[in-house]
Amino acid sequence: MAAKILEIENLTVSFDGFKALNQLNFDMDEGELRVIIGPNGAGKTTFLDVITGKVQPTEGRARFKGKNLRSRSEDEIARLGIGRKFQTPRVYLNLTPRENLDLACNRYKTVLSTLFQQTSAAERRTVGGLLQVIGLTAKADITAGLLSHGEKQWLEIGMLVAQSPDLLLVDEPVAGLTDEETEQTGELLMSLAESHSIIVIEHDMEFVRQIARKVTVLHEGALLCEGGIEEVQSDPRVIEVYLGKPEESPQAA
Ligand code: ADP
Ligand code: MG
Repeated sequence: MAAKILEIENLTVSFDGFKALNQLNFDMDEGELRVIIGPNGAGKTTFLDVITGKVQPTEGRARFKGKNLRSRSEDEIARLGIGRKFQTPRVYLNLTPRENLDLACNRYKTVLSTLFQQTSAAERRTVGGLLQVIGLTAKADITAGLLSHGEKQWLEIGMLVAQSPDLLLVDEPVAGLTDEETEQTGELLMSLAESHSIIVIEHDMEFVRQIARKVTVLHEGALLCEGGIEEVQSDPRVIEVYLGKPEESPQAA
């Protein structure tokens, strides 16, 4: 049996009495690529907030590689090996992709030293490798501000990977991307899944079908069902709470 990278037990998060997560149980094997879906307000982002230490659970427990995450700071959790990609890319728009990755490879470097110091050959190789993985080799030396939205997303994913996390958390990576960029993002995540555990939160069902192995459906802060994409999509409970509602149709994100 594969080791568990993440174990969530009876997790509850209350905001002034409102339970954004309600007795949630979830676990995931090391090396898995898991997709989490669910209607707006289901608690998906709150779930990531708890795993990354941004929000403390009211009740219950979250363990990462066997370690209880309670009372650990966001920095401490990041150092344990959890990296999070937010919905909006957070890259330095006035630096190039190469410079952004240089920074990410050495988190203690300041922006200025990246601009004015020579980088070591080993680091350049790492950055070169990352540029290749995210498909930005040809655009490595243009200002990141000139990249398309999709390319900025890939750059940020590259910056996360530069920090060698064991678990990558990716919140709605294809919102606002073109069809082609969406497909390329799927390929990127699948190639990263060969060496990382990954949780992807997503609304775009075509994209989910492209990448999904196991899908978890959240509803009202709890686990509604789990399984392969076909199984989940034909589950009457899922159809009722998620797929059946036209205002929350797959593309409506
Ligand atoms: P999702 O990402 O699945 O759309 P969220 O986790 O963002 O859902 O939100 C779950 C519920 O918790 C929503 O009803 C949201 O309004 C509420 N919520 C999230 N964060 C807070 C907060 N900081 N204070 C109060 N309510 C919140
Ligand atoms: Mg959300």
